[in-house]
Amino acid sequence: MSTVNDCLFCKIATGVIPADIIVENDHALAFRDIDPKAPTHVLVIPRSHFADVDELTERDPDLAGKLLALASEVAKLEALGTGYRIVTNIGEDAGQSVAHVHFHVLGGRSLTWPPG
Ligand code: 5GP
Ligand code: ZN
Repeated sequence: MSTVNDCLFCKIATGVIPADIIVENDHALAFRDIDPKAPTHVLVIPRSHFADVDELTERDPDLAGKLLALASEVAKLEALGTGYRIVTNIGEDAGQSVAHVHFHVLGGRSLTWPPG
């Protein structure tokens, strides 16, 4: 596993910073967002550091698939059967604020489209 010292999500992945983890495995974990934007707002991250989806899919596309599978598992665990959204922000214009790739799993209410 490759981590980056000053990365917030690497610190959550290694347990240095606590988080409300709902499911985890050898390569990924899912934990509740500290500032939820919906009744269910969970972040799915790899244990290894990748800046964003572009870097992840270039370096480890199989892991990208595993992260999406974990996001689906989160939706089942959180009983989001009536619908939910998986979002990943890439770069400044999308508002990415943590440079460790993560998928937001949002649900538990009706979600508007298009996003802002
Ligand atoms: P982004 O803006 O990069 O797409 O998403 C980063 C997310 O990380 C935000 O939704 C933000 O609320 C969440 N976040 C930031 N710091 C922490 C933290 O220390 N713990 C948890 N659980 N979530 C965090
Ligand atoms: Zn990291």
